[in-house]
Amino acid sequence: MPSTPRLTNLYCKLIFEGEEQFSAVIIEATIPPVVTVEYPEPGTCRVTLRALLNMHPGPLYVQDGIIREVTVEPGEAVVSFTISLDAAVRATLVVTEGVPSRVVLRFSRRPLQEFYRDKLIVLDPGHGGSDGGWRGPVNLRERDMAWKTARALAQVLEGLKARVIWTRAEQENPSWEERLLKVTTDTFCFISIHEHGAGDTGLRGTAVLYNPACRGNEELAAKVLERIVARVKIPSRGVMADGELARLGEIPGLKLEPVVITDWVDEGLLRNPYFHQKVALATAVGVKQYFQRGK
Ligand SMILES: [Zn+2]
Repeated sequence: MPSTPRLTNLYCKLIFEGEEQFSAVIIEATIPPVVTVEYPEPGTCRVTLRALLNMHPGPLYVQDGIIREVTVEPGEAVVSFTISLDAAVRATLVVTEGVPSRVVLRFSRRPLQEFYRDKLIVLDPGHGGSDGGWRGPVNLRERDMAWKTARALAQVLEGLKARVIWTRAEQENPSWEERLLKVTTDTFCFISIHEHGAGDTGLRGTAVLYNPACRGNEELAAKVLERIVARVKIPSRGVMADGELARLGEIPGLKLEPVVITDWVDEGLLRNPYFHQKVALATAVGVKQYFQRGK
C-alpha cells in the first residue's frame, strides 16, 4: 500500500521570468500528492490535496498585490488551501517529485503590471550629498536609507512597467524647488522618502504624509500605511498632511517615513535589505489598491 503524502511546508514567493512575473504558492510534501484546483468564485482558488498535514495550520498573510492570504483547512486525509486573490486570475499547476516534492501554483502578476504600465512616477529620496538628514544612534544616515528604499521601490515599479523619474542622483542634494521641476502634468504620483527623527524619546514606527491639496490623498496615504504596517509589523504613527507636498497641487503626492531612525530598534530594521524591499512592495500594492478601490 502506498504511503500517504505528508505536507511539511507552505510559502509564497515571486518568480521572475524575463518580462513575466508570477506570485507562487508552494506546498512541500514527502511524496507528490493528488491535487485538485477549483475556483468557487472569481478571486478565490481552492486547492485540495490528498495528504496529511504536518505543519502549522495558521493562515499565511501574503499581500503581494495578487495573493492576499492562504488559509489551511485540515480534513480527513485531505487538506484544503483557500487562496484569496486581488484579481480573478487562474493558476498554472506544476507538481515536482523530489525531496521534498513540491506543488507549485503560479498566478500571473499581469493585472498589477497592467495597472502600472507606462504610469509616470517621480521618486524623491530625501536629502543627499552633504545633507545626511537624521542620524541613527549607531551610525545610519537618513540620506542613505532613503536612497536604499527608493532603489527598492524603483525596482518594483519598473518590474511592473511603470516609468520612474528620480529627483536626484546619489550624491546630489537639490532644493525642494528643483525636485519639483521633475514633476510634469502627466505625473501619476510623486513619492518622497525620508525617515523621521525624534532624538532619544522612544518614539518609533511608520508614518505616511500626503498632499492636502489633492483630493483623496489622505485615504491614499492611509492605504499605503496600512499595507506597510501589515507587511513589516511595525507600529503606525499615522498619516499627516504635508505643506511641502501641497505644492504639487492636483498631483497625488506621498512622503514615506518608514521608521524613526533615531530609535535603536527602528534603526536596526533599516539594516535588513528585506525591510526596504517589503516597504517598496507594500507601497506599490497600497497605491494600486487605493486607485482600484471599489473595482
Ligand atoms: Zn528628511
